[in-house]
Amino acid sequence: MPEKRSIPLSVPNLSMDILDNLKDTIESGWVSTGGKYIAEFQEKMESYLDVERAVAVQSGTAGLHLAMRVLGVDRDDEVIVPTVTFIAAVNPVTYMGAEPVFMDCDNDLNMDLDKLESFLANKCEHQNGKVINKSTGKEIKAIVVVHVFGNPADMERLMEIGAKYNLKVVEDATEALGSYYTSGKYEGEYCGTVGDIGVYSFNANKIITTGGGGMMVSKDQDLLEKASFLGVQAKTDPWYYKHDEIGYNYRMTNIQAAYGTDQIDRLEDFIITKIKNYKLYKEALAEIDGLTLLPFNQGTRSNHWFYSVMVDQDKYGIDRDQLLQKLNDVNIQARPLWGLIHQQKPYLENQAYQIEKAQYYVEHLINIPCSSNLTEEEVEIVVEWLKEFSQ
Ligand SMILES: *Cc1c(COP(=O)(O)O)cnc(C)c1O
Repeated sequence: MPEKRSIPLSVPNLSMDILDNLKDTIESGWVSTGGKYIAEFQEKMESYLDVERAVAVQSGTAGLHLAMRVLGVDRDDEVIVPTVTFIAAVNPVTYMGAEPVFMDCDNDLNMDLDKLESFLANKCEHQNGKVINKSTGKEIKAIVVVHVFGNPADMERLMEIGAKYNLKVVEDATEALGSYYTSGKYEGEYCGTVGDIGVYSFNANKIITTGGGGMMVSKDQDLLEKASFLGVQAKTDPWYYKHDEIGYNYRMTNIQAAYGTDQIDRLEDFIITKIKNYKLYKEALAEIDGLTLLPFNQGTRSNHWFYSVMVDQDKYGIDRDQLLQKLNDVNIQARPLWGLIHQQKPYLENQAYQIEKAQYYVEHLINIPCSSNLTEEEVEIVVEWLKEFSQ
């Protein structure tokens, strides 16, 4: 029997180095949405991503909501979204009173761009630069693309589609901080910095964490300025509390940012570990019949945030759900893909276009332990159990 050891799926990798920053927030009293760490964290993100400005927000979800708002997604508009995603990529569409239209995934788990193109070409009418969904009569304003598990989507093709149809592109890069392109038009550019707006998340399970938090980037400085303004209750006057619009309390706190300034310095090391462990898994899983580790896309340097394994019951002997159960029984935390969003109760009435592949991935995929502090020994233990369970 392999060694029994509790191995979590994905946990924060925090360092006591943060204590100095935290002490400073206590001594200075700057614990809320002002303070030096917010500016410092934004600057570090700007220099890491090589962008002019990054705007810190309270969460990835808040950033995506602000993105919808500043891109002009209105009540009764539609936004194209993936069905394979964490639901936070989709809910902000609904916050605006707009409706999501769901797209299938491709074999890289990201949005199927062939289907996206065929939907736009065949199922929509094009009038005066507007895209009207034939089946609902509503205007489609934007596309939300998710770089699933840190695997960079084909932004070159997606941006061409966006330009052709005059649709805004929101990059949900919440899982993809540190992923970038190594070839093509966007060579050297990071996921999140290519679309009209990109959003990152620092939730506890993401590649770096501030407990909770997010960051917005854009090439359009006006959009970022507007997002930043709306995120502080749309206060137009610093003294007299004048508000001409409805805003939100979506600012990051100084305490969150005090974690971020340290975490961002360690991001590249985290990615190195994630890539190393991915390679170890890959070599080992090649020897187990019926398990396949999904690759990350060519022409990219993915952050390797989450590792996905496909389970082929005929060859492996037990099915995906049995494997999940067995792994969790020995305290190795594994989980299936998210439930498809077009099948979630709030979205059952929404249009879902030719969704086929997503169902296959939902039924066969597991994510296995991938923390950036996962040791080589722990990878070996996970692999031993995967061997043990094959029949
Ligand atoms: C984590 C995540 C979000 C939301 O980020 P929060 O900071 O938790 O609000 C959005 N989309 C995807 C795909 C995510 O994985």
